[in-house]
Amino acid sequence: MITTNPFLSDDDKLHEECGVFGVFGHPDAASLTALGLHALQHRGQEAAGIVCYDGKQFHSHKDLGHVGDIFGKPNVMERMQGHSAIGHTRYSTTGETALRNVQPLFADFASGGCAIAHNGNLTNAMTLRKALVQRGSLFQSTSDTETIVHLMATSTGHSVIDRLTSALHQVEGAYSLVSIFDDAVVGVRDPLGVRPLVLGKLGDAYILASETCALDIIGAEFIRDLEAGEMVVLSPEGLRSIKPFARHERRFCIFEYIYFARPDSVMEGTSVYDARKRIGAELSRESGVDADVVVPVPDSGVPAALGYAEESGIAFQFGIIRNHYVGRTFIEPTDQIRHLGVKLKHNANRAYLEGRRVILVDDSIVRGTTSTKIVEMVRSAGAKEVHMRIAAPPTTHSCFYGVDTPEREELLASRYDVAGMAKLIGVDSLAFISMDGLYRAMGEKGRDASSPQFCDACFTGDYPTRLTDRSARGEKPVQQYSLLEEQEAS
Ligand code: SF4
Repeated sequence: MITTNPFLSDDDKLHEECGVFGVFGHPDAASLTALGLHALQHRGQEAAGIVCYDGKQFHSHKDLGHVGDIFGKPNVMERMQGHSAIGHTRYSTTGETALRNVQPLFADFASGGCAIAHNGNLTNAMTLRKALVQRGSLFQSTSDTETIVHLMATSTGHSVIDRLTSALHQVEGAYSLVSIFDDAVVGVRDPLGVRPLVLGKLGDAYILASETCALDIIGAEFIRDLEAGEMVVLSPEGLRSIKPFARHERRFCIFEYIYFARPDSVMEGTSVYDARKRIGAELSRESGVDADVVVPVPDSGVPAALGYAEESGIAFQFGIIRNHYVGRTFIEPTDQIRHLGVKLKHNANRAYLEGRRVILVDDSIVRGTTSTKIVEMVRSAGAKEVHMRIAAPPTTHSCFYGVDTPEREELLASRYDVAGMAKLIGVDSLAFISMDGLYRAMGEKGRDASSPQFCDACFTGDYPTRLTDRSARGEKPVQQYSLLEEQEAS
């Protein structure tokens, strides 16, 4: 169905839910935040918001749409005064896309006002919410982040920092939060550090951001990543680092390196672009094939394809061109329409495909709908052979940590083995990077099964936290089978 809703996405990718940004101690805090959110637009395109504090009162502006459209409107930034601000850009995974769910969420406590912006997802939010509602809490939104606000409201802590800490001790899941109070901006990462959060400086001002590309846009200096389980309080007294949680091994999301983060960002000391190239090189070592040309599925497959081409010595060519002006198609994401979306977005560069044996490199396969259409397009352009190489292991499980993932049943790799997927997508061969190969590309010897160095649950099902809400609902097992076996049996 064609719809007039411009905020629906049509591509077959996992989507990062949110980006967050915060400033303390700069006279243009809100404007810097709008710029920071613009750099984080890839982490959420449905809505954005900023809350700032001018020393007397809070100001807030939130809307549905892209950052530039929301904050570029006349007169919007004029009233967003003050030396501190936080902002949020959103792609919803919990709570529908309604203005009441757009963050930062604001609350007035007896001790003063507070706003929160959250990247991640709480895995026990529904369970906590039920208990809070039974005790009389009135929720204004359907967002999981509001649970933190209500836990703060019902806390007996003296200061807002105490209340925030007490609330965070009760939640499970992934969160990188920025929060603004009347005298401070606070950044905090969950005890496993699943989602990113970095600290920077611009003159005397402190900056918090989901990614370093958001520091670059305002010319801020990168100081460091927040540690897993660290809370930093930025106030007139300077920076205070608190470690309110028991120590855990870090489980940073490995998919940030594969796809979510911008390639010009540096995460946990590793350049995202370099990581993607190393993954491509590893993929070439693991599953090389004779071919004439390495072609990325643009844009996200480009760095891995470059790494693959460099390692294999096979020429890299832009055999597929992406149209960058279809970011917001007015299209409902049904399966049939997703096929149309691919044609809108990509076109074959026939001169570099015709009569060639092509290695197509993409970052991941989710439902497989995009891959199928891309392969069809490459074959129609005259490719002699099409070999697909994927810079991630098969995505077999849903993410519950702030990434928009379909139910397991919809994930192609949860239902078919590699041979089955190759047949469905229509390629001559298909290979995914192995888990150990992915870890090697990240500088490890391999995956340490007893204590994995990253969160990789969407590939392994090894979730690093409890999934309390999910368990309460009772998750159905997904039947896994081979398409080829099924065909042979019939
Ligand atoms: Fe990242 Fe996958 Fe873990 Fe989600 S499940 S946090 S996408 S690695």
